[in-house]
Amino acid sequence: MLLQAQAPLQRAAQTITPEDIRRRIGIIADDSMRGRDTPSPELDKVAQYIAAEYKRLGLKPGGDRGTFIQRYALDRVKIDGDSSAAFVHGGPGATLKYAKDFIFVDNMFESGDYAGELVLVSGPLSGATADTAGLAGKMIILTTPRLRGADRDRVFAWRPAGVVFLSNAPDSIWTQVAARFNRPQMRDPGRIVGGPLALVIRSSAVGPVLTALGGDYASAQTATTFSVKPVGGAQLHVHARIQPAEKNSAPNVVGILEGSDPTLKNEYVVFSAHMDHVGVAGPRGSGGCRAQGADSICNGADDDGSGTVAVVEIADAFARLDPRPKRSVIFLNVSGEEKGLWGSEYFTNHPAVPITNIVADLNIDMVGRNWRDTIVAIGKEHSDLGATLNRVGAAHPELNMQPIDDIWPDENFYFRSDHYNFARKGVPILFFFNGTHADYHQVSDSPDKIDAEKEARIAQLIFYLGVDVANAAERPKWNPDSYKRIVVGN
Ligand SMILES: [Zn+2]
Repeated sequence: MLLQAQAPLQRAAQTITPEDIRRRIGIIADDSMRGRDTPSPELDKVAQYIAAEYKRLGLKPGGDRGTFIQRYALDRVKIDGDSSAAFVHGGPGATLKYAKDFIFVDNMFESGDYAGELVLVSGPLSGATADTAGLAGKMIILTTPRLRGADRDRVFAWRPAGVVFLSNAPDSIWTQVAARFNRPQMRDPGRIVGGPLALVIRSSAVGPVLTALGGDYASAQTATTFSVKPVGGAQLHVHARIQPAEKNSAPNVVGILEGSDPTLKNEYVVFSAHMDHVGVAGPRGSGGCRAQGADSICNGADDDGSGTVAVVEIADAFARLDPRPKRSVIFLNVSGEEKGLWGSEYFTNHPAVPITNIVADLNIDMVGRNWRDTIVAIGKEHSDLGATLNRVGAAHPELNMQPIDDIWPDENFYFRSDHYNFARKGVPILFFFNGTHADYHQVSDSPDKIDAEKEARIAQLIFYLGVDVANAAERPKWNPDSYKRIVVGN
């Protein structure tokens, strides 16, 4: 009885073969794909190839407007320095020239005139008191060199018109930084355009005016308690001008297999891997690809051609299951991972289904090299997916593939690939990873070096795990301490 019940599952798993893996990695990590930089025509070609496979497998499209492709914008913009300027009105006043006296911190703003009363905010921002209610619409001068994490969220919540940092950088450094902001730059696809305007003003350009107005910037810098002080009623006006320089976008591929249980099919197990890599050596290869002799193409066969084809192969195996698993399954191939986890950030902010209905992300990044009989599963200690994986691994000794714990905890890999964007939104994850090697991000990460036989066994293990999670009565659960640290605390 048991044997018969298991047979269809095993037959599906056995369609994941070394030959298929070798053939598919040969396609997407071929020199003609030029290292699948984000964005690039070759990355789009790979996305189309995967989309066609999902269509052939009978999956449901989970991308834009009934397609398998979800696109996110990667527009380049250029700050119009000649038309941008800033003015201090009050006291002796000041006219500030763009690049010479001030720069914008980033390019995440719209062209416009931004104005407000200047106030000096000093002391630890975490010690902020009720008087921050009055900071809405103001131009606030901060004494920190930059804003990150919780401080950034705090300051943005005050809804100031602008945030001003002062810089004591010497001429040589200031000139370099200002020049960088004069080139067309890509907007960070993970952030939303708008919010307070952020600028850096040279102390030499504005210091004397602040002093004349009674703003004591020097003592504010050493303040130990939070305080807010107007700067003699002065106003800061900024003409901020920015222009589109180039329209661009990049793809994710999303295929969905609908579950068979009328209730549980509204929950989803995600298999993810990034299909992009670092491109070719040269000016376009901003991902850090370097030529070796005549070879200038970073193929990314292991990183992450291996994970990409594992997801396609697992989709192929799932598509053969009859009956289908109880929960639905999403096969997700993202891009922009190498640039900063862009595609997964976009997907988790614009998921094909409600993110709270995603019960797990099983992420696969680099599974075709190194040890033959073990695979590291990062994140095992953070949810009961770790115990489930141990159980599934033990139930399949024929795979001869031992899932092991994170052996590089100091490297913080938990925070370094696409699964992290799921984890921070509360989705339990496991990250399958064979570790780096001498060919990591080199032109020598080529298809001929892939151990397809080993990778097939890993993909089968992850397939069995996914089936188990998709059919389980309960969805995976976080360990409470991990949840506090990873989800609540970020
Ligand atoms: Zn990489």
